Amino acid sequence: MDHEPARINVDAESVTITWTDGASTTITGDRLRSSCPCAECREHESNTRSIIQIGNRSSIADAQLIGGYAIRFTFADGHADGLYPYGILRELGSTSP
Ligand SMILES: [Zn+2]
Repeated sequence: MDHEPARINVDAESVTITWTDGASTTITGDRLRSSCPCAECREHESNTRSIIQIGNRSSIADAQLIGGYAIRFTFADGHADGLYPYGILRELGSTSP
């Protein structure tokens, strides 16, 4: 196991994860929503590319730990199919200043 969250702070605009190694990752709702790894969103993205920006529907409504390896986020638009593995979350934070 490389990285595990020690603390997860969720608000409507962004999520901040503090990892057990002391690093901290902040990811905006927009970025999180557009990086949703579920099949439906991957398909949607390959069809439309990033022409459509969903904007304020990307606020984060809820977060849930899944099986000790991922976090499931629920978004304001009702979408909750994506499981975000810790490694992906950490990567999203490090590539987004
Ligand atoms: Zn999705």
